[in-house]
Order: sequence, then structure tokens, then C-alpha cells
Amino acid sequence: AQKRYASLRSLPTTTLCGTTISLHMNAGLMADLPSLESSGAEGVGLFRTELQFLIRSKMPQRAELARLYARVMDAAHGKRVAFRTLDIGSDKVLPYIKAPEEPNPAMGWRALRVGLDKPGVLRMQVQALIRAAAGRPLTVMFPLVTELAEFQTARAHVMREIHREKSLGHPVPDRIEIGAMLETPSLVYAPRAFFELTDFISVGGNDLKQFFFAADRENELVRRRYDTLNLSFLSFLEQIVARCAETGTHLSFCGEDAGRPVEALALVAIGFRTLSMRPASVGPVKALLRRVNLEGARAVIERARIEGAETVRPALMDWLATQGP
Ligand code: PEP
Ligand code: MG
Repeated sequence: AQKRYASLRSLPTTTLCGTTISLHMNAGLMADLPSLESSGAEGVGLFRTELQFLIRSKMPQRAELARLYARVMDAAHGKRVAFRTLDIGSDKVLPYIKAPEEPNPAMGWRALRVGLDKPGVLRMQVQALIRAAAGRPLTVMFPLVTELAEFQTARAHVMREIHREKSLGHPVPDRIEIGAMLETPSLVYAPRAFFELTDFISVGGNDLKQFFFAADRENELVRRRYDTLNLSFLSFLEQIVARCAETGTHLSFCGEDAGRPVEALALVAIGFRTLSMRPASVGPVKALLRRVNLEGARAVIERARIEGAETVRPALMDWLATQGP
């Protein structure tokens, strides 16, 4: 199978019906970057910057981070890297940042909430990204955005830092894209202005699913209880596709489900055109998508809905078994 995936590396992810899908990879360490070439991913759809913070015993310095981010961009050879700002709290705890004891950390003081309440670290990280991207494009995205105002504030931090760098006479990125991760159900119903202001939206399916089903992703008793191919969840994801289509907002999906071939097929069937996954999943997902007709997959989903099924998984698996190799 490895050989077969390698032979697909330079081929586009085009379905039988002629729809082309962009496959990107998730990363978090410098050591992940060589996979960009070997997997054939078009870019890094999610760079989890907290890993750099988690492997240290003290807060990294701005200059050190800027050097690291520049090396990541160099290693990407011009391919897009979406840097997600620090996503700590909940399961990711930094020993050098005082974290409160929380009864329910997954729903607590985490991710962008920490960044907005203690903006020093967020600003330092943004400065490092701006310096690293001097003269080239920069893509930044914020984790666990929950309402429009949070995105506006976070975005304003980036714009202020760019302005500041310029006024100091430093070079700045030649283009900047600022996006939000959609990981809380509230954002699906955010004002239209949210979808207009974001340059792109990336669905963090791991968190979104946990909040949609109220089932802790870290809790073995419930984490596998609800199926991603549950039709309630797919209907909900379809609303995201529709809202992004209204405003022409670029949409991607970067949770673990994007790397599971059958889940990836369902996501593409309901309208996702960009998926980001662990590098080893790019081959298997591409192989499956290249042998399907999306009309067919959509019809299977519609039929399951009409029949009142809870999940489309069995029907989709049966249908796949009847499709070509
Ligand atoms: C997600 O929640 O789906 C996601 C991509 O972010 P993380 O897994 O790092 O929370
Ligand atoms: Mg997340």
C-alpha cells in the first residue's frame, strides 16, 4: 500500500466526477516538515504551535520563536503554513504558566481565552510570527474562537503588531491571512460579520464534536460513543458549509476525522473542499477520494436521512464496497 500511495503523491485529489480536493497536513514540530514533501500534502493546514511551548521548561523567548517559525517556513518551500496561536489549557498544561484548578478544563480557561485575558504571550508570539514572515506571506489562526468579538480582538492584536513593526522600520509580511478555528457550536450561528471578517475558517472537528455531543474527547468512557457520521452532526457541518458559501469564506476541516478515509468522504460529499490531516493519512484519503463519485455519496447520505438512520456509516460502507478499486 505504501508504494501505491507514493505513486499517487504527485497526482491531484480529483474525484471520478471531477471535483478537486486540497489535502494538507497537520504538524507541530520542525521534524514534521519533511513529511510535506513525502506525503504530497499541499501545505500545512494546522501547525500546532503549543508543542514548542510544551517541550520546554520555561517560556520561550521571542527571538528564539521567530527563528523557529522562519525555519518552518523555509522548510515548507513556499507552501502555505497555517500557524495556530498557542492552544493551551484543558489537556495541555504549561509548567511555567500558572493555571487555575478548574472543575471542567475542556470548557474552561483555555486556548484563545487565555490569549485574550493575558495578551502578553499572544502578542509575543504574533511578533515572532511577523518577524519570521518578513517579506513573505503569513497565515495565522486562532483556536477555540467562540464569538465574533473574540475574533475581532485577536485580529486587532495582529494588526497592531504589524503596524508597530512597520513604525519601527522593520520588514513585515507581504500578505497576511487571519483565520479562526471553528470548534464551538456557537460560531456556526455567529453574525454574518464573523464570516466576512475571517479570511478563512478551519473546523477543529475534535473539539467541535466534543461540544456538539457533550462528550469529553479525553474520557475513555464516552469518547467513542458518538459517530462522526451521525446524521445530526453531518447536518450541523452542512450548515457551516452553507454559511461559508454565503460569504465566500474559505473553509477547511483539520480535526482527526479528516484523516479517516470514510469520514473524509462524507466531509467532501457535504461540501468540504480542503482537508488537513496527519501526513500518513494523505495517501489513503487521496486513494479513496480518487475512486468515488460524489453524487453517489451524496445520494447515500440523503437516503439514510429519509430512512431516519442515526448514522450514515453502514450505508456508506456498503456503497463503497460496490465502487471500483
Ligand atoms: C481540533 O480540535 O479538531 C483540532 C484540530 O485542534 P486540537 O486537536 O489541537 O484541539
Ligand atoms: Mg481543538
